[in-house]
Amino acid sequence: MKASKFYFKSRKKISQEEVAISAALLIKANFIERLTSGVYNFLPLGLRVIKRIEQIVREEMEAIGGQEILMALLNPRKNWEQTGRWGSFNALFKVQSRFGGWFALSPTHEEVITPMVKNFIHSYKDLPLYLFHISDKFRDEPRSKSGILRGKEFIMKDLYSFHQDEKDLDKYYNQVKKAYQRIFKRCGLKAFVVEASGGTFSDFSHEFQVITPAGEDIFYYCPSCKFCQNKEIISNTKKCPNCGHSLEELRGSEVGNIFKLKDKYSQAFDLKFRDKDGKSKNVLMGCYGIGISRLLGVIVEANYDQDGIIWPKEIAPFQYHLIRLLKGKVKEDKIIKKQADLLYDKMIKKGLEVFYDDRDDVSSGEKLVDADLLGFPWRIVVSEKTLKENSFEFKERKSRKAKLLKLKDFDKTVKAK
Ligand code: ATP
Ligand code: MG
Repeated sequence: MKASKFYFKSRKKISQEEVAISAALLIKANFIERLTSGVYNFLPLGLRVIKRIEQIVREEMEAIGGQEILMALLNPRKNWEQTGRWGSFNALFKVQSRFGGWFALSPTHEEVITPMVKNFIHSYKDLPLYLFHISDKFRDEPRSKSGILRGKEFIMKDLYSFHQDEKDLDKYYNQVKKAYQRIFKRCGLKAFVVEASGGTFSDFSHEFQVITPAGEDIFYYCPSCKFCQNKEIISNTKKCPNCGHSLEELRGSEVGNIFKLKDKYSQAFDLKFRDKDGKSKNVLMGCYGIGISRLLGVIVEANYDQDGIIWPKEIAPFQYHLIRLLKGKVKEDKIIKKQADLLYDKMIKKGLEVFYDDRDDVSSGEKLVDADLLGFPWRIVVSEKTLKENSFEFKERKSRKAKLLKLKDFDKTVKAK
């Protein structure tokens, strides 16, 4: 991708309202744009990262049997009345049709998926079933200061599982827990698995928390046995209930949440199946969310320095940032351009993802500043200096030192990582 043709210009001015570091950096580097409080547009660079995160999530969901669907976001009022959440879900966006009648803009999909699978689940032979969907969600959140960490419109992956008994639900719940740990690791994050209230007396749900000062959750962590519990449910904040060690208080952002719904929604929609003995029983359900667009923000919160973003390799929008630095001298510049074009063509032929700063109207200083701000993993510079040495400059974003490498070694240095 050539910068001269790309929808990209780093921004000098960021709205004072954008106090979250992730939102400020992502706007400055032209990944996202703010439409209004809690509502953002994703620009080409931001969308590339979103797609990468989605792909990791999709692969891990499919690996545990999940099948992808896409459900409607405009939901009839009666579905939400049937569960009582038309009245009780405070953040529900309600829209009125000009022909009369109301709709909800979906903030989660139990009210859609449960009646939907009724057409499919009749007997124990139809179970278990795992369906997931990646789409926008709408929640009328109170005005927040967290940028894309808390949107009124945001992207979520939600998986729903359907089971014939608790043993099967428990088994799958643990599989999802492990899949989530793989997902966050692949996103370059360390996620703490935190016990949270499960809504029933003895059972817990689990939140996946990434430590960041921008987070809105407090949880307690035991450095000895690694036990974690959310502040809202912990009874003794001094000692670990597991091993007695003293607890640490940490601040995090919740990137995922897994929950056993049991028969809450199957009761509301009369979702039943016939077991082996022909007895009619409620289907048991689990639901499992991941905040895709929140993850974009959390990844930045966890990976930046004073110069800009430092993308973890698997989700970086481009792997390589190739820059040509011109001198303003016709003859020299022609050679520099030719050499940089040559390297670019080589990389494209190899199938590498490279962002090529071929802009002629931008100073060398600005190009280098932009490279640090954008934060792609590897930077390659071609300049008068490198050409004199038959070399190119190679630098990892997270390191301070650039290496001067010989052009004959380009192929073995720059390859699919
Ligand atoms: P939170 O505790 O942060 O309000 P939640 O418990 O209501 O979230 P769920 O309904 O379980 O969240 O949604 C699943 C995931 O979607 C969350 O773990 C979070 O990562 C993400 N998420 C929830 N609300 C938002 C939001 N307003 N903006 C961005 N992401 C969100
Ligand atoms: Mg929560």
